[in-house]
Amino acid sequence: MTIFQRLVEEYGRPAWHSHGDPVDILVSTFLSQNTSDTNSSRAFRALRDRFPTWEAVINAPVEEIEEAIRPGGLARSKAPRIQAALRRIIEERGDLTLDFLVDMPLDQAKAWLQSIHGVGAKTAAIVLLFSLGRPVFPVDTHVHRVSKRLGIVPPNASPEQTQKKWETLVPQETFYPLHINLIRHGRQVCKSRDPRCHICILQDLCDYYQSEVSPTRS
Ligand code: SF4
Repeated sequence: MTIFQRLVEEYGRPAWHSHGDPVDILVSTFLSQNTSDTNSSRAFRALRDRFPTWEAVINAPVEEIEEAIRPGGLARSKAPRIQAALRRIIEERGDLTLDFLVDMPLDQAKAWLQSIHGVGAKTAAIVLLFSLGRPVFPVDTHVHRVSKRLGIVPPNASPEQTQKKWETLVPQETFYPLHINLIRHGRQVCKSRDPRCHICILQDLCDYYQSEVSPTRS
């Protein structure tokens, strides 16, 4: 589709590569909630440095997990959530792995992940796409904002509706590069408070531009 092509011309076409083990991605996604990428990476590294295995994280006093992940913020809520998620995996599977999700039917894999307390559609999609290359379209705050302004979904759409819309609108092989490029576009151009519409390559495709910015709007 045109939006995808334009973004590729502007930002390139990022090739999918696994971003890591699915359990690692799940934990790092918990840590990324309501904080910057830098802080969440620091918290993840601190956690791994202090506890060599995920079993060690499960067995540690929750206060020690909190202390390790403090650089990522909201440590008091994230620490027990991480432990509970890891416990759930081992109780259900007998092993601390999520590798089985690569072969599970997609809807079941999403549902399995979302049955873990604190895992919503976005986190499940990140684990499935970024770690395992499953065809799911994660919708974060940037993707959601840009999609609404473009008019891909109505202004009151939920992130889940935006995810479904993209998943039916574009071919699966574009999910990863389109997701990455929408985030780039949202960070660099279609910013939250002050979209830089005057330099945007998507002006003619954008509902927001046509209704709020274009000099020819009625
Ligand atoms: S024209 Fe403006 S609102 Fe539309 S996508 Fe570009 S920056 Fe965002």
